[in-house]
Amino acid sequence: MLKKCPICELNYLRGTETICRVCAAARARRHAPEIAEEETVMCSECGEKPALPGHDLCEDCLKEQKRQANLEVLADKIRADEAEDPLEEDLEEEDEEE
Ligand SMILES: [Zn+2]
Ligand SMILES: [Zn+2]
Repeated sequence: MLKKCPICELNYLRGTETICRVCAAARARRHAPEIAEEETVMCSECGEKPALPGHDLCEDCLKEQKRQANLEVLADKIRADEAEDPLEEDLEEEDEEE
């Protein structure tokens, strides 16, 4: 007789298994050495790679963030250059009251 896994109730158990392999793997992951987990903070952006020490993000995401920041600075400069006449912007801000 095939028994279903009591945890996920999706997968059948084989042989002497009490929980299916998927759940066993998930459980093993959860019970993995907690020290390693505490030392390694995962990237808050992608969640797939360990964050760099002192950062919330992994190397890749940190690079991406820097790239984005640079782009924004660049865009701000361009905008500042283009908006030599700030009259229109001032009017828009006053309109916001409604
Ligand atoms: Zn299961
Ligand atoms: Zn990342």
